[in-house]
Amino acid sequence: MTLKIAIVGRPNVGKSTLFNRLAGKKLAIVDDQPGVTRDRRYASGHIGDIDLDLIDTAGFEDVADTSLEARMRQQTEKAIEECDVALFVMDAREGVVPLDRIFADILRFKDKPVILIANKAEGHAGFAGAEEAHVLGFGAPLHLSAEHGEGISELYEALEKYR
Ligand code: GDP
Ligand code: MG
Repeated sequence: MTLKIAIVGRPNVGKSTLFNRLAGKKLAIVDDQPGVTRDRRYASGHIGDIDLDLIDTAGFEDVADTSLEARMRQQTEKAIEECDVALFVMDAREGVVPLDRIFADILRFKDKPVILIANKAEGHAGFAGAEEAHVLGFGAPLHLSAEHGEGISELYEALEKYR
């Protein structure tokens, strides 16, 4: 069975870096097809022996613009509807910021399992920032470094029960 994974969260937390890492070399991006929304990217990948269908949600740099925020919310909701499990990514170094809470509210009302990921936690960096992560309502975060490939085996363990 292939697990459908949506990678969601505010811009700049490392969603695409995680997407690329899990997609590995077998990248099959289909968002260049005409008529397909550019707000989400799709690829197949795997962690160990778990096959994944990955959905990356686009980063909108300027979310001060309300129309961008509405679009970000909309594509996040679509990605969540399409997935089996949502990976909710935050920045372990920055801790919880107001925009993280907006994403938490979107996820809370969806009937999908959520794994909270405190990214950029390489070499135990950002463990202090991730301490407050429980306020988001998804328990203690899984510490990960998408860029350095740390915490991937813990992510594997977290995903195992959903396949
Ligand atoms: P997105 O907007 O959530 O898709 O974030 P990106 O994947 O584009 O990453 C945003 C920035 O964070 C980039 O400069 C990445 O190199 C950096 N980044 C991503 N993952 C990590 C990580 O694990 N550790 C560190 N230190 N930086 C990271
Ligand atoms: Mg991105």
